[in-house]
Amino acid sequence: MPAEERPAGRDVDAVPPAAVLFDMDGTLIDSEKVWDRSLVEVLRWLGGTDLSAQARRETLGGNLRNSLAIVFREAGVVQTPELADQATRRLVGRTAEMFEGGLPWRPGALTALRTVREAGLATALVTNTGRYLTDKALVGIGVEHFDVTVCGDEVPRGKPAPDPYLRAAALLGLAPEDCVAVEDSPTGIAAAEASGATVLAVPCEVPIPPGPGRVVRPTLEGLTATDLAAAHREVREQQAA
Ligand SMILES: [Mg+2]
Repeated sequence: MPAEERPAGRDVDAVPPAAVLFDMDGTLIDSEKVWDRSLVEVLRWLGGTDLSAQARRETLGGNLRNSLAIVFREAGVVQTPELADQATRRLVGRTAEMFEGGLPWRPGALTALRTVREAGLATALVTNTGRYLTDKALVGIGVEHFDVTVCGDEVPRGKPAPDPYLRAAALLGLAPEDCVAVEDSPTGIAAAEASGATVLAVPCEVPIPPGPGRVVRPTLEGLTATDLAAAHREVREQQAA
């Protein structure tokens, strides 16, 4: 429509972001439930019974070391290097078995990946999960969807630190401010926002409140390149105001 007929304050020609950076667990695939199952198995091996609701929230989107510390705390067991080692092997082994068995997509996630590709935007997978398990999950997800992949064990600090997002943007040769990050958890959103990227929050296990660095969307179903551009513009405008 001619510019003079556009609704005030809305730019229908919003410029798309240069890249879309996708979180994996809970955003693309419903793997948080797998993690939950393997963490509970380790907890029981340590003599505990079940994770509290608070502990579950704390492990969402977190890294392996933090999640294990929470499991030890919940079990009331002091973490020794030997026990931590055994627990890590159990946790990774069980999770790998379940990842290899195939992971269910989050609603609309596969179509969203294809949509972003077809729109000609660069893409990255940015996960706190380590390379070993990520590569197992990528067999099912399809590594061809991504220009680059960054894992939690390839950066100095995992999410909620911005490092994984900063590294993904650097590998793509882009400023984080020109990217949209798609995230489901408070931990991942904190990381993406700290990097300077626009966040498209698609809640999975816990609700996500609105915030200045993000646009919240109930699902990835029906996501278009225009939606991404609009979200990017909205956040940039909020931050400039
Ligand atoms: Mg996640």
